[in-house]
Amino acid sequence: MTLQERDKKHLWHPLKQHQLQPESLAIVKAKGCVLTDENGNEYIDAIASWYTCMYGHCNDYITHSVYKQMQQLDHVMFSDFTHEPAVKLSEELIKILPENQNKIYFNDNGSTAVEAGIKMALQYYYNKGEKRSTFIAFENGFHGDTFGAMSVSGLSVYNGPFEDFLIDVKRIPTPNGTNTEIILKQLKAFVSNHDIAGFIYEPLIQGAAGMKTHEALGLNTILKYFKNQNILTIADEVMTGFGKTGRYFASDYIDTKPDIICLSKALTAGLIPMAITSCTQDVYAAFLSNDISKGFFHCHTYSANPVACAAAIAGIELLKSKDIQNGIKTIMEAHSTFQKRIENHPNIKTTRHLGVIFALDLNTKMERYGDLRDKLLKFFMDSGVFLRPLGNTIYIQVPYVITEKQLQKVYQVIEDALEIV
Ligand SMILES: *Cc1c(COP(=O)(O)O)cnc(C)c1O
Repeated sequence: MTLQERDKKHLWHPLKQHQLQPESLAIVKAKGCVLTDENGNEYIDAIASWYTCMYGHCNDYITHSVYKQMQQLDHVMFSDFTHEPAVKLSEELIKILPENQNKIYFNDNGSTAVEAGIKMALQYYYNKGEKRSTFIAFENGFHGDTFGAMSVSGLSVYNGPFEDFLIDVKRIPTPNGTNTEIILKQLKAFVSNHDIAGFIYEPLIQGAAGMKTHEALGLNTILKYFKNQNILTIADEVMTGFGKTGRYFASDYIDTKPDIICLSKALTAGLIPMAITSCTQDVYAAFLSNDISKGFFHCHTYSANPVACAAAIAGIELLKSKDIQNGIKTIMEAHSTFQKRIENHPNIKTTRHLGVIFALDLNTKMERYGDLRDKLLKFFMDSGVFLRPLGNTIYIQVPYVITEKQLQKVYQVIEDALEIV
């Protein structure tokens, strides 16, 4: 029996209606930017396996660092102990994070990094004797699938069964250069009628919404407003972190820095699940007290797993290297050229790119998980490229180590696909 057949017996996949989509392709190997399936077919991983393995799959430097760490210290409880990989990772992260960040809190995945950020904000005010219960978030944002993260997410088409159990969230549109005054008016109304605990946002680009970009100046105005109102801001950089936007973090483009930052995905270079919620000294200080219950009692068993920390440290070392920084620059330039080549195609509505992320919206209407999407996905896979359309958006988020030849193939396959829509 093939892996694909054996899979169907006991496995339940995420984001899948198994009655309509019973098959899952079995991947047996990944190296650099190439995935190999059980029949020996190869695919360029043009979305870096959900934006994780930005230094390439099975990167020798990272796997070697992880292997060394595994032989030294595999795991130990972080509530009671500390260790070199966690200490070193905190030092390295603080060096590259926005300058107001000072404390590093460990989580297991992007959703729980957001969950912890939300809980930090609620307890920050609670510890100061204030009860605040409402969050503000962008329309169409995505922040994860646990209850808090699901609540602040604005992409709720598939969240029907849970809607009655979500926390209270008010939504604002993303800034587009002309609507900032309108947004500020909305914010003032929200703030005078509710106890707002925080504003959570994907800075500059909303991933799951279809790589939708927004305007940095408007976002800065919004963040400044919250700062003046003493309302905490939470940047969800789970997707944008670690070089995707051309800077280490998307927040680097914006003058007003967030109080809390959520990180995951490329944090561990696609090797081991881990996430981090970082915060300012001011946020941390609200949890210091002679009263034990004012501490932050949110914990995951595998917090600060040393092996995951080793992967993260190696990833940051690579991110800072000349080779990777050059790779990012090369991809950004290639995206510009590609954009000029296709932007006037009759089947394209709009194109955009930020850092190594490139996206185009098709003129056609397309369901998020509908027939045209399936047809495109199949076309891409048959052509040897793994691309995963979102709504009517086709987007690229390639590993920084992609070769010129591989990148040109990704572009070509997208151009060819434009003829079948
Ligand atoms: C992927 C993602 C999450 C959720 O992370 P998981 O590790 O899948 O739980 C949260 N926020 C953003 C912006 C993401 O892209």
